[in-house]
Amino acid sequence: VIEIRNLHKAYGSLEVLKGVHVTAQRGDVVSLIGSSGSGKSTLLRCCNLLEDSQQGEVLFKGEPVIWKGEGHHRRPADPKQVLRIRTNLSMVFQQFNLWSHMTILQNVMEAPLTVLQRSPGSVEKAARGYLEKVGIGDKCDAYPAQLSGGQQQRAAIARALCMEPEALLFDEPTSALDPELEQEVVKVIKDLAAEGRTMLIVTHDMKMAHDVSDHVVFLHQGLIEEEGPPETLFGAPKSERLQGFLKSTT
Ligand code: ATP
Ligand code: MG
Repeated sequence: VIEIRNLHKAYGSLEVLKGVHVTAQRGDVVSLIGSSGSGKSTLLRCCNLLEDSQQGEVLFKGEPVIWKGEGHHRRPADPKQVLRIRTNLSMVFQQFNLWSHMTILQNVMEAPLTVLQRSPGSVEKAARGYLEKVGIGDKCDAYPAQLSGGQQQRAAIARALCMEPEALLFDEPTSALDPELEQEVVKVIKDLAAEGRTMLIVTHDMKMAHDVSDHVVFLHQGLIEEEGPPETLFGAPKSERLQGFLKSTT
């Protein structure tokens, strides 16, 4: 569903990604780990074209992004392609980003109604279904401020699901949560993995990465230092940097 080939990204003279390859096939759960500043969020944002990149390819379902311009002037050439990719890769952020003046149900319904222009009746039915699925079916009429952090993040996941995307992109979905609330969100992510959803997950939660991933990528200073199945990456890390990183997180 998602393929990144030899991606290079710099902010001005700061090289953040220096030739990165990542693939998530349909049904794959790929986790991105690495220390702060290693480029994890940037890589995720390059997948759905929230960030531009200067070199390398981004493919969605085998379809390469068409660029115009070169280097720091390189941009996606086709706004329709950008929209198609972005609506099919729903993102869930660390800080939930729910609209505070809308109820939970309205939050979940908003993008399918306005971006996909689906009919209100079918969207409402789907939205209620997804809220039920993440365990907050009783919170439809509440406002975000009336929910716990874990409930808000589950609402944000329902909102992402309601776009019926090809894949979900998570950027530290549990980092803003207290440990007890974190587990509610981890459970939802595990359920989605068991359902065969395609997911790319940036996380500091090594236990979750171990439990849900098919493939784990360890980024270090904009390069992939080591990658592999979770059993190998966590059980028998080869690189000293990864060994050090894993020690620092436990
Ligand atoms: P963290 O674990 O702290 O979230 P990360 O691995 O997600 O880190 P990124 O957010 O991808 O790291 O940032 C990679 C590098 O790019 C950092 O050095 C950061 O300061 C820099 N950076 C990120 N966004 C911008 C921006 N908009 N402008 C300039 N530099 C940026
Ligand atoms: Mg980040």
